[in-house]
Amino acid sequence: MSDCIFCKIVKNEIPCDLVFENEKVSAFLDVRPSAPGHTLVVPKEHHEDLLVTPDILLLESMRVIKKVAKAAMEATSAEGFNLIANTLPAAGQVVFHTHFHIIPRFSNDGLKHWPHKEVLKEEQQKIKDAMNKQLSAQPF
Ligand code: 5GP
Ligand code: ZN
Repeated sequence: MSDCIFCKIVKNEIPCDLVFENEKVSAFLDVRPSAPGHTLVVPKEHHEDLLVTPDILLLESMRVIKKVAKAAMEATSAEGFNLIANTLPAAGQVVFHTHFHIIPRFSNDGLKHWPHKEVLKEEQQKIKDAMNKQLSAQPF
């Protein structure tokens, strides 16, 4: 993808603060961090979002995430982290090249969690039905 910012970064065409890379995945600091140590883990191959990314790349990303998250926590003395994959515009995705945010967290750091709402009665059955539809089209 010639106009994709993350493709350019993983190909070293534009600079980044790289913390790790291997053949399939890069990890670099977010240019506008939400917390110290905010790191993006990015499969190098271009796919628009998590849902269309091949499983093998998601598995490799998760292997890297475990190690980078530990390193980011150690480096910043964080007490935890959030792992976030904003997926599609309604969820706040702005860069359409699959990526995961590792956001180190500190007690009382003031970052807000999502609000809690009531469970709607029909949700469980509707999701189960949608799962069954997917699985009958394409089993695991
Ligand atoms: P999204 O909302 O798509 O999940 O988040 C994209 C993230 O990429 C944002 O947090 C933004 O700060 C980061 N970002 C956008 N452009 C660049 C860039 O050129 N370099 C780096 N390092 N991060 C970027
Ligand atoms: Zn890309």
